[in-house]
Amino acid sequence: MLVMLEDTIAAVSTPSGVGGIAVLRVSGPAALEVVDKVFRGKVVLGDAESHHAYFGRIVADEEASGCPEQERFVDDVVVTVFRKPKSYTGEDVVEISCHGGPYLTRKILNLLLRAGARLAERGEFTRRAFLSGRMDLSQAEAVADLIRARSELNLRAAQSQYTGVFSRRIQELRSQLIEYSSLLELELDFAEEDVEFANREELRERLGEIIQGVEWLLGTYERGKVLREGAKLVIVGRPNVGKSSLLNALLREDRAIVTEQPGTTRDVLEEQLDIRGLLFRVVDTAGVREAASRIEREGVLRTLRQVQEADILLLLLDGSRPFGQADAALVEKVLADRNGDGRILVAINKIDLPRKLTRTTVTERVGPYPVVEISAKHEQGLEELEAALVEVALNGTPFSGDEALVVNLRQKRGLEEARESLSRALQTLDAGLSSEFVAVDLRAAMDALGSLIGEVSTEDILGNIFANFCIGK
Ligand code: GDP
Repeated sequence: MLVMLEDTIAAVSTPSGVGGIAVLRVSGPAALEVVDKVFRGKVVLGDAESHHAYFGRIVADEEASGCPEQERFVDDVVVTVFRKPKSYTGEDVVEISCHGGPYLTRKILNLLLRAGARLAERGEFTRRAFLSGRMDLSQAEAVADLIRARSELNLRAAQSQYTGVFSRRIQELRSQLIEYSSLLELELDFAEEDVEFANREELRERLGEIIQGVEWLLGTYERGKVLREGAKLVIVGRPNVGKSSLLNALLREDRAIVTEQPGTTRDVLEEQLDIRGLLFRVVDTAGVREAASRIEREGVLRTLRQVQEADILLLLLDGSRPFGQADAALVEKVLADRNGDGRILVAINKIDLPRKLTRTTVTERVGPYPVVEISAKHEQGLEELEAALVEVALNGTPFSGDEALVVNLRQKRGLEEARESLSRALQTLDAGLSSEFVAVDLRAAMDALGSLIGEVSTEDILGNIFANFCIGK
């Protein structure tokens, strides 16, 4: 999509369907003029004040002109005027609140299109907000996450990015690079005089710090992903340890089945649980149970792909039975499948029955993972289990709300690119090569960081990002 900023765009911004009100949004240089063609109120919008709302009616256009105005009546509405640059898009914007019926809104939209607006593309309002400098790219990206947030922490992660916490961190790193890069480029201008404006020792040290900063951000990816998308939780355990009972108990406890939707891979069913504000996508335990029993029957433990994909693995053991061969075999296989991902929690179930399995045995036989003791049947220990699930899913650190987080693959890739260029710059320095080469690497790192916040952007990047939005946003 090529954005033509001289176009005036219009779309229905509320979801389709019946509602109390619906809102249409018009943005662009001719926004006021376009709406004026169909709006009759006490004032002409061309003279209207910014950030003011006006009552009036929408009337059908010239097709029906000649009819008395009463017959051209479409709806009573309130329009709100936002003059540039203080609007969502940075352009003149008019929002029309009408009665919320799909046919009615569609009709008003058609009138606006006939009056000279064009239908907005997906995310085009937000894209214009970015292009006019109202927000940077990572903030624009966060708008989609704000809308889609399904839990408290989900929302807070999106808000942190929307309010620019991530952007500021990237800008800090980038501005340090800009400083050195301009010194190096200055040296190039004085190449014949063989001067060094950028102290090499200091540059090396500073690059090391910036690399650390980039690595620190990269280290937040797992947390960021879990906060943004929810944690994929897989409960594994031998048949009859109580997996279904536990899932039911958790669902009851939270009364929070958000939706049931097909999983992202194959057609596994996922249930969504909101535990202390964090979203957990629990993979249907029936699938795992069936796999586990088949595994037992065959005497062969087969890879559970789920186990590899899980952000957090909950290993459920039956506390009323001693730890046996089959348990050991399952644990061994499961740990192998985890490939060293330590986000594992062990729960000893059925503690209401006489105990045959202790924490100590679990630590010895399974590993140094957190252990909680529960009774799924009697709903004991569930609070502790939930707290532990959240803690393990977030790698042990609660989310403070104002920490910079890498929340998507695009950001991760950009940071990895920056890290590569920075390491190359260091190597170039160490090899004593001319400042020209170092300058090239620094510029590449700056571009990589810049692409994250839209200081450097291409049509491809923008197209990918805004394709994820809906029309009207
Ligand atoms: P799954 O095969 O792992 O899904 O196990 P289920 O949830 O179907 O439970 C197997 C049996 O163990 C059922 O009869 C449950 O009622 C029982 N059970 C589950 N949790 C507990 C518990 O905490 N205490 C007791 N006493 N029984 C339990």
